[in-house]
Amino acid sequence: MSVASVPHGVMFHHFWDQRHPAGQGAINADDLARMLRHLGPDRILSAEAWLERAVEERLEPHHLCLTFDDALLCQYEVAAPVLADFGLTAFWFIYSSVFEGHLRKMEVYRYLRTVAYPTVDDFYDNFERALARSRYADMAAKATVDFDPGRYLAEFPFYTDADRRFRFLRDRVLGHDPFEEIMDSLVERAGLQAEELRHLLWMEDSHLRALDAHGHILGLHSYTHFTTLGEMSYDQQKREYLANRRHLMALTGHAPLAMAHPCNSYNQDTVAILEELGVKIGFRSNMERRPSSRFELPRQDHALIMAELEDR
Ligand SMILES: [Zn+2]
Repeated sequence: MSVASVPHGVMFHHFWDQRHPAGQGAINADDLARMLRHLGPDRILSAEAWLERAVEERLEPHHLCLTFDDALLCQYEVAAPVLADFGLTAFWFIYSSVFEGHLRKMEVYRYLRTVAYPTVDDFYDNFERALARSRYADMAAKATVDFDPGRYLAEFPFYTDADRRFRFLRDRVLGHDPFEEIMDSLVERAGLQAEELRHLLWMEDSHLRALDAHGHILGLHSYTHFTTLGEMSYDQQKREYLANRRHLMALTGHAPLAMAHPCNSYNQDTVAILEELGVKIGFRSNMERRPSSRFELPRQDHALIMAELEDR
């Protein structure tokens, strides 16, 4: 893998410190600083310079930018100060529903996994037990008879076989509502109050305003963060991006020019909508080569770069 020969973003999600627990894939401030030095701070463009060069098609093969998805408070509290030390700015891809009274349960469930179970495998065991107790037990047993973890999500080499099996059950076997039914039963067993977690998990409008004021670029990431937005109708997708855009414009006073596809899910309708909304660039969430399009800029998951650091 090593140094990719195309300009790309580095995609970050979770960070840990004393306040934010270290879940799967999370790194701390020292890890981030080490990673930035490893990548080479000179290769990393400010968000503004990246946007300008991408629009003018002047990105060079060694250029990188930094991107933070999902408006997580841990990013603001742990990563933003490190970026300030390095004099760097980044793209922050924001889904707006969590700023307007909604919860994204996926994030609550991740927190549950982190604080309620000693290991991820312990969580998977509990999940399988809850599934076996549920009305979906027979259906799930049938659907996983021929499951081959080696062939599912093969583009993410850092997933374990258990990670792959869990994701297969969640995304391909159960689907949204049955999955939430099982997970909510685990949240309840663990005694967690989802509503109380809101202020620990996500940023608030004031954080977004501060990022914008410090030269970071806030970008679209849809309103709800559905996992399969690209399979939804043109109208549904447009509603998602319009509501997302309204929220960001109300905060910053300017129209968002960048975006990242939530869960890498998009289609031709998505691209048409983004063009209508005046968005200039969009990011994928992997390094797969695509016909070059300014709405399909590649990104490397930070976990792959961490793995490279730990190999040395
Ligand atoms: Zn996301």
